[in-house]
Amino acid sequence: MNTVELAPGIFHLQGGSNMGLVVREGKGLLIDTGLDEDAARRALRFAEGEGVGLEAVFLTHAHADHHGGAHFLQRRLGVPLYAPALEAAMMENPVMEPLFLFGGAAPIRELRQKFTMAPPCQIARIVDAGPLEVGPFRVDVVPLPGHALNQMGIAVEDVLFCADAVFPAETLQKHGVIFCADMDAALETLARLPEMPYARFAPGHGPAYGAGEEIREICAANRARLEEIRERVRAALAHPADTDALVRSVADGFGLRLTTATAFFLARATVLAALSSLERAGEVKAVVEENRLLWQKAV
Ligand SMILES: [Zn+2]
Repeated sequence: MNTVELAPGIFHLQGGSNMGLVVREGKGLLIDTGLDEDAARRALRFAEGEGVGLEAVFLTHAHADHHGGAHFLQRRLGVPLYAPALEAAMMENPVMEPLFLFGGAAPIRELRQKFTMAPPCQIARIVDAGPLEVGPFRVDVVPLPGHALNQMGIAVEDVLFCADAVFPAETLQKHGVIFCADMDAALETLARLPEMPYARFAPGHGPAYGAGEEIREICAANRARLEEIRERVRAALAHPADTDALVRSVADGFGLRLTTATAFFLARATVLAALSSLERAGEVKAVVEENRLLWQKAV
């Protein structure tokens, strides 16, 4: 774990999934918990090294790689967990994450491993957009929907912990199809993010970005990627196609080799988000023919 002090007492704990730690008046506020108990222990050790215990944990969104360690911290320390509505429901009922990926049916075993299904935790308080006081911490909760339906970031003074609103260039290159639940919302979030009044932007993966050109550039790259995914879906609909054919077409287009069911279902969710965006714009529609669901151009 690489720790970067973004501002006095505001730390970005960079690892597989990043966390944040804010230290004020001898107390610590943790932002996200990483994938599992090991990640949460690393954060805890770092906080202890700074001489603080955890007052609360803020969870940005219900993806197992960000809240998988929450169960451990809650059990071990009894620390209260804060999370946005809907995301909180998924954290308390973590089968919902693989359930969604698997189309609402009891998920296969592969989708029940720790990368897509965290241990359950209990959320002490549902947070909404706006100012929030937690012990000595005065923070702002900032809606960043799209990657997850009700993802929220947390602003501490001039640092915004912006969760998975933006992925680093490395991820864009490696994964091609980045995960997205609501493409229109994600594009809108990416348009707003660089205009927000913060000096540093600390995402859930990769390094932090400075205000101005740095955050603008990475947001533009993320927007371009989502638009390219949607464009590839649109282009593949020269002829009506089913969802899995579109996943294949988009993956091929990015030169990806999907080798696990999990990778396939994650890519499929993003393709469905693109279809939903196109459907909302009146460009495509779903039709059922000969017991097949096909996507076709609406005009
Ligand atoms: Zn995520």
